Amino acid sequence: MLVDTHAHLHSDAFKDDLNEVIERAKKVGVLYIIEAGLDLETNKKVLELAKKFSIIKPSLGVYPTDATKLTNEELESSLNFIRQNKDSIIAIGEVGLDFNEGRETEKQQREIFQKVINLAQEIKKPLIIHSRKAEEECVQMLESSTLKKVIFHCFNGNFKLVKRIENKNWFLSIPPIILRSLHFQGIVNNVSIENLLTETDSPYLAPPPKTRNEPAFVKLAVERIAEIKNLTFEETQNLIFKNFQNVFLKQF
Ligand SMILES: [Zn+2]
Repeated sequence: MLVDTHAHLHSDAFKDDLNEVIERAKKVGVLYIIEAGLDLETNKKVLELAKKFSIIKPSLGVYPTDATKLTNEELESSLNFIRQNKDSIIAIGEVGLDFNEGRETEKQQREIFQKVINLAQEIKKPLIIHSRKAEEECVQMLESSTLKKVIFHCFNGNFKLVKRIENKNWFLSIPPIILRSLHFQGIVNNVSIENLLTETDSPYLAPPPKTRNEPAFVKLAVERIAEIKNLTFEETQNLIFKNFQNVFLKQF
């Protein structure tokens, strides 16, 4: 009953062996993989993959830094594409704010993110958030919304922000790099299991550095969460699966 709530299987890294990658995921017990798009082109690939593999559930996004390079018309058609496909998607993402390269585009990124938040409210879908060097700004903008289903993917913000996320009853998805990341171990230690999900961000963020990540490795994250929470592996995967059902499989 494992779930990977964030992967990019449309990536070239999987072009030669995607079938095997999916088989390995199924073999360790992965039931769902949320495949996240970044722009119009990858969003189309995400929908195709979801048609081909029933384990894949599509999430369509506008990646924050890429979106600033779009014209207004292009942005609107990207958002419209998500709107038009609302009945086939499980979430909107990845979306958010990214100030890793500086704040020159901050105002524009905030305007785009606000449009995305409005869209999530309009079509009633969970939001999967990317928030690099912009964690507080993301949390703040989302706190001003009425959204109840928000998932922070690979969240690197501080523990005050983690608590604000938990207080809103939102979710943090934990990747397998928890094996070597004190930050993610700390999140799991400090946050109720009711606010945790698991992800891989495949092909990125593999537990051994500079190797390819894949959805089967989500099992490693569950094992580590179980250890920290003093639960069995079964209990942990069941509780996380319950969270997954509440966020993604139930109607708003
Ligand atoms: Zn990602």
